[in-house]
Amino acid sequence: MALMTGEQYVESVRKLNLDIYMFGKKVTNPVDDPILRPSLNSVKETYDLAQDPQYKNLMTAKSHLTGHEINRFTHIHQNTEDLMNKVKMQRLLGQRTAACFQRCVGMDANNALYSSTYEIDEKYGTKYHENFKKFLEYVQENDLTVDGAMTDVKGDRGLAPHQQADPDLYLHVVERRPDGVVVRGCKAHQTGICNSHEVIVMPTIAMREEDKDYAIAFAVPTDTKGIKLIIGRQSCDTRKTEGGCIDCGNCTYGGVEALTIFDDVFVPNDRIFLNGEVEFAGMIVERFAGFHRQSYGGCKVGVGDVLIGATALAADYNGAAKASHIKDKLIEMVHLNETLFCGGIACSAQGQPTKSGGYLIDLLLANVCKQNVTRFPYEIGRLAEDIAGGLMVTAPSEADLNSEEVGHYIRKYLAGVSAVPMEDRLKIMRLIENLTLGTAAVGYKTESMHGAGSPQAQRIMIARQANMEAKKDMAKRIAHIDK
Ligand code: SF4
Ligand code: FE
Repeated sequence: MALMTGEQYVESVRKLNLDIYMFGKKVTNPVDDPILRPSLNSVKETYDLAQDPQYKNLMTAKSHLTGHEINRFTHIHQNTEDLMNKVKMQRLLGQRTAACFQRCVGMDANNALYSSTYEIDEKYGTKYHENFKKFLEYVQENDLTVDGAMTDVKGDRGLAPHQQADPDLYLHVVERRPDGVVVRGCKAHQTGICNSHEVIVMPTIAMREEDKDYAIAFAVPTDTKGIKLIIGRQSCDTRKTEGGCIDCGNCTYGGVEALTIFDDVFVPNDRIFLNGEVEFAGMIVERFAGFHRQSYGGCKVGVGDVLIGATALAADYNGAAKASHIKDKLIEMVHLNETLFCGGIACSAQGQPTKSGGYLIDLLLANVCKQNVTRFPYEIGRLAEDIAGGLMVTAPSEADLNSEEVGHYIRKYLAGVSAVPMEDRLKIMRLIENLTLGTAAVGYKTESMHGAGSPQAQRIMIARQANMEAKKDMAKRIAHIDK
């Protein structure tokens, strides 16, 4: 089986024996849980669209391992066209879900590890690349969703992993056996882990010799004994339990995060991709972060398209669409959004092959792309709130709209232009609220800030890649300054 249908995917997740906790209770049926289901629906969309002939070119690729048709989310980029198609696919999915569709983390981890394991083996004669290829083929052939777990909880940020008061604040090896290792630790902010079949774990920072036990990368099924998922709260999350569709803003799609505990998890030898080769931890971090910074030039742009569309509709429904300042603000939103897309496409177009043959984005441009992502969605959101008006946060509930006593007042007094049903105006207000302040703001705003690394992490990379000396030489030559 190469490609799963969306329904097959949902049933495959139902078969997983995940250990999930939310609101102080164990979740026994995550697939049908009203808070978790919209997040599953977002990943399901990556399967549904791959079945649609209209999107085949973006959503599927030919495996370089088997020659089979595979979902692009399981592909190793073979050229710059693949890199650009990845970003276009992410924009499409952002447009379709207006949420985080989660499957990119595994795609980016796969691509980072494919090239890194090749180079580790080249230096040490290890078998990590072989292990990784075997894992990848299994993922491609079964069309699996893979989560990528990088961010450790990190405790005291001023201390290295081995210096922490509690050694488990960075995930590490606690036991070495002939057949594998046992790991303990916790990865934070894991979007999509409860909708994934497998999880790839990677180190979160560059490491030194003393941190050897922390320099570990591997993949295990998400329902492996010892893995526990504690779902994160989101603003307005319980609206999903109220029934109805208006108040959620986006009742079909979403994305949830989990604090992911590894409580003495066994990893067999053939699933290990790094084990103590400390100097390669930094390479894995840099490549994974680079790929995920590229990703944001696609997914956030797609969500931005929906927000811009919702804002234009709010202007239409309010009767304000013809005002010149409204038109200009919408133009500014488009300009900012397309600038983000430029970064995603540019770092892809300038990609280069690694020694393994897999393609890597231009790291400087990927970091510039993500740096813009830490800012522009906030400005796009500010303009959306400006145009939408205060009703997006003061409108009565759907239950009041349906009430016999007061519903007719709401219909009468919250009407906008007469040609548009009042409910439609409310739906658009709630969608803007969802994207700027509600559950989706996790993905559109805070994740834009901190996902794939906080702003300062990109500035460090930009400084490293800037080649300032070459720029100084250019200036000296023009100004006739001798070397
Ligand atoms: Fe994909 Fe964007 Fe979600 Fe990352 S934040 S997993 S790139 S949709
Ligand atoms: Fe992310």
